[in-house]
Amino acid sequence: MTDKPFKLFDLKVEVVAGEAPMVCHHVEGSYFLVEGESLVFSDVIHFPMYPLAAILPLLPAKQRVTDDHDWMSTDSEIACPDPHCGARFRITRLGVRTFTHAGTTGLPHARGRPHWKDKAADD
Ligand SMILES: [Zn+2]
Repeated sequence: MTDKPFKLFDLKVEVVAGEAPMVCHHVEGSYFLVEGESLVFSDVIHFPMYPLAAILPLLPAKQRVTDDHDWMSTDSEIACPDPHCGARFRITRLGVRTFTHAGTTGLPHARGRPHWKDKAADD
């Protein structure tokens, strides 16, 4: 039972310009990916920590299937937490990745091979 699969969306979090100027050190078009529990920064040299702290709590919900009428399904731009900054962060759902309970849980009695060692997690 613990090897039953579940799916999470991969996400892309991209810096986009809002109506006001950006006052933090954001680079429009830069992005990072979310793959399971991992943040993947491939082309980003830096990412300000205050907006990252504001974005992080939303990512696990965006990874999961939500009701079509849930704002989490429809709203995709997060404002920079600096009220004077115009930066926005667009969260886009990409492909779906399959995990298993045994590959992701921390429960000692249910723990199996970690998902990051399992090729099957790379759908
Ligand atoms: Zn900002």
